[in-house]
Amino acid sequence: MSENPVLLVTGGSRGIGAAVSLMAASRGWRVAVNYASNRQAAEKVVSEIEAAGGEAIAVEADVGNATEIVAMFLAVDRHFGRLDGLVNNAGIVDMPQRIDEMSAERIERMMRVNVIGSILCAGEAVRRMSTKHGGKGGVIVNISSMAAKLGSPGQYVDYAASKAAIDTLTIGLAREVATEGVRVNAIRPGVIDTDIHASGGLPDRARDMAPSVPMQRPGRAEEVADAVLYFLSPAASYVTGAILDVSGGR
Ligand code: NAP
Repeated sequence: MSENPVLLVTGGSRGIGAAVSLMAASRGWRVAVNYASNRQAAEKVVSEIEAAGGEAIAVEADVGNATEIVAMFLAVDRHFGRLDGLVNNAGIVDMPQRIDEMSAERIERMMRVNVIGSILCAGEAVRRMSTKHGGKGGVIVNISSMAAKLGSPGQYVDYAASKAAIDTLTIGLAREVATEGVRVNAIRPGVIDTDIHASGGLPDRARDMAPSVPMQRPGRAEEVADAVLYFLSPAASYVTGAILDVSGGR
């Protein structure tokens, strides 16, 4: 049986999560690739990992649903029997709206997936990884956004607020479990070229935003994955509670 460490990547089937899953597998992690509904995309990531000699499974779960989160972690327990890392990556945006146009349903969904889902997943991971619970330690990387600093006025201040919550979660949880072998850090991606912009009704957003980025271009999912893999690695053994902007200077 493989002794390689096990990583759960929420939203690991597309975009930044897929890049993280593939890169982690290439560096020796066994990977649980979570997805919400697009099974085909998740299976493609798993197949690519397996074709390169790695080990991965696809796990369906809506991180906006507490019961499905518990079932997802149990599926990881059953298959791998251990957990060493969590990347809280699954996240959503919505159509550009001012706050005076937003419905309660939209805001609740945004918070349920982006905030409550990440907090519940972190709790499940700590139950398994913390030495306080008999675990061997581990790493959590939260995917925030530059929106947490910039506020996304006129586009989605609800999304920006949800990501600010991820920053605060990172700082507090890092300190809470610092003596329990668990490191917690976050990445704030800037504008990254993925499908998320189309899901928010702005398919050309990554290209359109390029002039506002000091480096004058959107980032690639792999450029975010590189930073995530640093936090996951022993090279970051003394790094916890850190939030790294991966934003081309924005
Ligand atoms: P993406 O291309 O839209 O991919 C989203 C991934 O998350 C997919 O794998 C999707 O699964 C999954 N997902 C969505 N809702 C989910 C749910 N409720 N439960 C479980 N999985 C769910 O997004 P991305 O651009 O890679 O973004 C990833 C993270 O980076 C998000 O947290 C986002 O806020 C953050 N971020 C992105 C950017 C950017 O410019 N792209 C910038 C800053 C921060 P399915 O395939 O099944 O739908």
